[in-house]
Amino acid sequence: MSNATNTAGQDRRPEQRAPGLDIVTSYANVGNVLMPLARPVPRRLLGVWAHPDDEAYLSAGLMGRVTDAGGHVTVVTATRGEKGTDDPALFDRDEFGDLREQELRASLAEVGVDDVRFLGMRDGECDLTADEQAVRAIVEVLEEVRPDAVVTFGPDGMTNHPDHRAISRWTTEAVRRVGGDLFYATKTRAYMDRFAELHAEIGVFDDFGGSGGPSVPQACIDLECRLTDAEAVRKRRVLQAHASQTDGLVALMGEDAYRAWSRDEFFRRPTATELAACPLPASFEATDAAPELVGAS
Ligand SMILES: [Zn+2]
Repeated sequence: MSNATNTAGQDRRPEQRAPGLDIVTSYANVGNVLMPLARPVPRRLLGVWAHPDDEAYLSAGLMGRVTDAGGHVTVVTATRGEKGTDDPALFDRDEFGDLREQELRASLAEVGVDDVRFLGMRDGECDLTADEQAVRAIVEVLEEVRPDAVVTFGPDGMTNHPDHRAISRWTTEAVRRVGGDLFYATKTRAYMDRFAELHAEIGVFDDFGGSGGPSVPQACIDLECRLTDAEAVRKRRVLQAHASQTDGLVALMGEDAYRAWSRDEFFRRPTATELAACPLPASFEATDAAPELVGAS
């Protein structure tokens, strides 16, 4: 996929297809008008995430659109989310990781995805892995899968979670080495405004000052997936499969608010500054092999 799809003047007009089926949207400023441009969904999509459920919240609609169009999706998850519970009997237990892995596989099955790989790190401990080792593991997947789009967290980690930020750093560096079209999950300013009250209530973006997390103006969105009603119903099933993570939030927000809040998906390309910051310290001498990848292909 070209890196130039978000610039005006390309020979790239909206295609005459039913919206929401086999296209996603990017934007271009034509004169003073922000034009939505339809673009084909990736044929091969790679998502690199930290915990089971990250991929569901941020890319379930996109993954479904890729598989609906006959494409292939690979999901890499660094950890099995062993710390994703307040229950001291389950917290950081392998058994809880087993449950979350099962939830992940069931969730992905709802959008026709069965290619999931685990990097084998512990929840909350991604920073204990040497950057070079993690980057090499992701490079290995990139070289095998050869995706035409890669989606992951931005440097903000969306919620500022250290695992999320590590994934962003590693994936950005891996794509820089191997090449590829990289997109960071984000939100629009309009989205943050719409849900500001809710965010203050649930505290999801407290690290960013309470009511608003990472967002960009609509014009800076490079890949957008606004779900059709049918896709939104499917995404709710995808999220439902992660019941250990989602049931509590649904109870807190209410079903209608939860559906609206979790519905649409937005991505942006890295900025030049973010890419310039990407190369990891050259002095780092890693001789370890990449960690063994676990999981179905
Ligand atoms: Zn996460």
